[in-house]
Order: sequence, then structure tokens, then C-alpha cells
Amino acid sequence: MYDAIIIGAGMSGLAAGIRLAHYERKVCILERHTTIGGLNSFYRLNGRNYDVGLHAVTNFTPKGAKRGPLARLLRQLRFSWDDLALKPQLGSRVDFLRERLDFSNDFELLRSEVARAFPDSVDGFDRLVAAVPDYDDIAPETADASAREFVAAHIADPLLVEMIFCPLMYYGSAREGDMDLAQFFIMFRSIFCEGFARPAAGIRPILKLLVRRFKELGGELKLRAGVRRIVHDSGKAIGVELDDGTQLECRHVLSSAGYVETMKLCDRTDSATRDEAGRLAFVETMSVLDRPPRELGCDRTIVFFNTEDQFTWERPADFVDLRSGVICVPGNFDFPADAESDLVRVTALADFDRWRALAEPDYRAAKQTWFDKLAEVAVRFVPDFRKHVVDTDMFTPTTVVRYTGHENGAIYGAPKKRYDGGTFLSNLFLCGTDQGYVGVIGSLVSGIAMANRHVLQAAPV
Ligand SMILES: Cc1cc2nc3c(=O)[nH]c(=O)nc-3n(C[C@H](O)[C@H](O)[C@H](O)COP(=O)(O)OP(=O)(O)OC[C@H]3O[C@@H](n4cnc5c(N)ncnc54)[C@H](O)[C@@H]3O)c2cc1C
Repeated sequence: MYDAIIIGAGMSGLAAGIRLAHYERKVCILERHTTIGGLNSFYRLNGRNYDVGLHAVTNFTPKGAKRGPLARLLRQLRFSWDDLALKPQLGSRVDFLRERLDFSNDFELLRSEVARAFPDSVDGFDRLVAAVPDYDDIAPETADASAREFVAAHIADPLLVEMIFCPLMYYGSAREGDMDLAQFFIMFRSIFCEGFARPAAGIRPILKLLVRRFKELGGELKLRAGVRRIVHDSGKAIGVELDDGTQLECRHVLSSAGYVETMKLCDRTDSATRDEAGRLAFVETMSVLDRPPRELGCDRTIVFFNTEDQFTWERPADFVDLRSGVICVPGNFDFPADAESDLVRVTALADFDRWRALAEPDYRAAKQTWFDKLAEVAVRFVPDFRKHVVDTDMFTPTTVVRYTGHENGAIYGAPKKRYDGGTFLSNLFLCGTDQGYVGVIGSLVSGIAMANRHVLQAAPV
């Protein structure tokens, strides 16, 4: 009998596992895939290593900082700042063709850019910044309030409003059209006030660190161990059944599979539950160049682009929405050349249903078509790198479904978050994306919080 079974060896599952194992709970992490990491994993192709999802780690605070999610999660997982080997970004940009705003890990740069480009709105921007609460002071009732209404109450210039939302939605909004106000506060702090960094050798060392710590503390990790059913009785989970029929018993279940996905494991497959699935999916192209992109003048770390004044954040009406996207140059952090120094990544919104409907040859052809179209848009915002491409790869929403099981390939999961992690079973809780915190740091924080609250501080079951 396990004290806790955790479904999924992504960031949130691993963090939850470490917390529980640290307090000597008998804990097992079950992962369907052959490797760890979930949405933030890694793979090898044509002789080189790629990170699956990592553009940047948000919430960067320098060594010695005592406040903020990064410092807190290091304390909770008992890692040192140096363990993550994070290096800060060189500098990023929001570019809407008509106007651009540079920003970095020094908030003053963004403020001075707003003052330059939108002098009539800088007072409103200052008032907005002053109104963004600290993480611990975010009121629960702001959970699903409208961030657009909040921002519009401070800033009159519609272009500046859209330029603020573009990076925040791209890096963390599961809701179409608008953003939960609480999530807006979190993303505003984590991206604009704190900033971006990247581990010098990509996500691999961080994942290995998490697994090593979990196992040293006595935790069990089973790969190729998909959960096909959560067994429950009288309102309580009593165990899980694996894809191969093995049954495991436990006192608590923490699931990082997602809300709808977890309900399906409990045989709750009614349409109301299915309708809660997220709809926002992405394609991402990877172009390996014959030289560091910086040598071609691609000197920004991340460029959030939009070809119109209005920024549209919804499931696109075509395979890919070419109006907006994110260009990431993983070599543009403050470190010497690493494995991804010659890479340019371009990400854009995509429609899962269209990609899913394609048979194999058409799927491959569509990938090539949309790869080229996306590169054509991207080079309106960064120097043209296309002549220097020596290798490529691309993922679509169907890739995300295949490797993580997330409904619709929705990276930020269901729009309705369950901040308390609760479900209809008294000892089954969500952690990770659908509990409410997204991204590398957000998922780690979520795993820690849910393990603390629902297992370590729970009354004996
Ligand atoms: C392309 C891309 C780019 C990204 N870029 C960034 C970035 O630059 N910075 C950033 O901070 N974040 C980024 N993210 C987001 C970040 O990766 C995720 O928010 C975070 O990793 C989610 O972690 P999680 O633990 O909540 O879920 P997941 O990583 O989805 O983990 C869930 C795990 O559960 C497993 N699972 C599901 N069902 C079962 C089952 N029935 N049985 C057993 N196992 C199961 C899955 O295989 C998966 O491993 C990106 C994501 C993607 C896809």
C-alpha cells in the first residue's frame, strides 16, 4: 500500500514526489511514456539533442534572492540556486510591426520602452504595475475575473494593451480571448518583473536532478506504467489499475494528467466533463542553422510577434494562425555555446482537429507547408535565417497528444482551473497544469503545494 501514487513524471509529479519522499511517505510515480519530463522533456534526432518544450524558465531571480517562486521552490525541494545552473536572457521583444517594446530581466527597460513608445500611457502603466499584487496577496476571487477589464481600466491605448497581453497569453493562458486575472498577475510578475533564464545545458540536467533526488529519498518511479483506471469506492480512490492490468493500492492519488483526462480515468466521461478540455494548441518549428543565429543579427532571446494591432488568442480557423507567434533563440542567454546554440524555434497557435484529421502522407506534406509559411512570417521580425538552415524538426498538436495524453494537445490544459486541486473523490487531487500553475516553475510549485496541502497536512486516511 502506497501513501501516495502520482500520475505523471512531468515537472509537477516529480516535485510532488520529492516532497512526499522527503517526509518518508511511501510514494510511487507512474509514467506512461518511456521517459520523464512530460511537456518539458527531451529527445535525440539526427545525432543531436533537443529540448521538447523549453524556451525559457520564467520567474528568474538572481542568486541570494529570498522572495519569489524560484527561491521558495528551491527551499522546498532543498536544492541550491547553483543546482539549476540558470543563465539570464540577453533581452527580448514584443513586436507588433507598428511598434515594438524591448524588455529584459531589468524591469526598468520595459518601463522606459513604454515611456518612449506610449508617452500618454506611461502613468497608466505605472498605476497598473502598482496594482499587481505580490504572489501571496493574490485574492482568490480574482481567479476567474477578467484581466482585460483590469488592464483596460488602467491603460487607454489599445495597442499597448494588446502588446502587454501577447507574451503573457503565449506563456500561460488556457482561456481564449481573455485571461484569468489571477493568472495575469502571476504571468506579469514572472515574465516582466522577474524574467527569463535558461539552464546552460537545457532541461535534461534539471530533470535528472529531480529524479535523482526522488530516488535517493526512497521514491519509486515506474516508466511505461500508464494508469488506465483510478479505482474508487464510496467517494474515495483506493488505487489504480495500470495498462498491463497490475493493480496498486494507495491512500492518496495526485494526478498531473489534466482534469478531463483524470476524470476519464475515473470513468467520468459525460459530455459536460469532456467540454471542459482546453482548445489552445501549438505548432513549433525548429531550424538548425549552420552558425549561431546571433551572427546573422538574430540577437533577441525571445520575440513575441503579431502582424496586426489586435492580438487574437483563440483556436485558429486554419491549421496554424500565422498572425502571431513566438521566435525563440535558445543560444541567446548569457552562456557560452550549448547544444542548442545554433537553433531558432518558432511557435504559433494551431488547430488540433485539422492536424488530427490528416492521414500520414498528408500530415507530412502539411508540416512542410506550414513550416515554410511560419518561417516566412518570422523573418518579418528577425533577420532572414532561411538560407542557413541545415536541419529541421516540427511538432504539431498531435505530437503533444501522442507523448503526453493531453486532450486536444492543449499545452495549458483546461481553461477552468481548480486551484484547490480537489475532485469528486476525497483523496484524489490534481497537480500541475489543470490545478492552475503552468510552465516549468509553475508546475514545480503546483506539485509542491498539492503534496503539502493534501497529503502531508491531510488527516490520516
Ligand atoms: C512546446 C512547449 C514549449 C514550452 N515552453 C515552455 C517554456 O519555455 N517555459 C516554461 O516554463 N514552460 C514551457 N512549456 C510549458 C511547460 O512545459 C508545462 O507547463 C509543464 O511542463 C507542465 O508540467 P505538468 O507536470 O503540469 O504536466 P506534464 O508535463 O504534461 O506531465 C504530465 C505527465 O503525465 C503523464 N501521463 C498522462 N496520463 C497518464 C496516465 N494515464 N498514466 C501515466 N502517466 C500519464 C504524461 O505522459 C506526462 O508525462 C512549454 C510546453 C511545450 C509543450
